[in-house]
Amino acid sequence: MRLITIWVVPVSGTMSIENASTFDCPECDVIAPSASVPYDALGYAVCPSCAYSATPTDDR
Ligand SMILES: [Zn+2]
Repeated sequence: MRLITIWVVPVSGTMSIENASTFDCPECDVIAPSASVPYDALGYAVCPSCAYSATPTDDR
């Protein structure tokens, strides 16, 4: 839960950035700032909790 501690979103009318700067995992439903989550070689965010990668299609 220490990842949530540094999650400081400045509410200054820029709500569109809030969605883009946070990573919410569909697998374990964790929410972390995009700046603190690791990224794989393709540039997709990787969940720091369950290692889920947000790769859309990996079936080619
Ligand atoms: Zn996860």
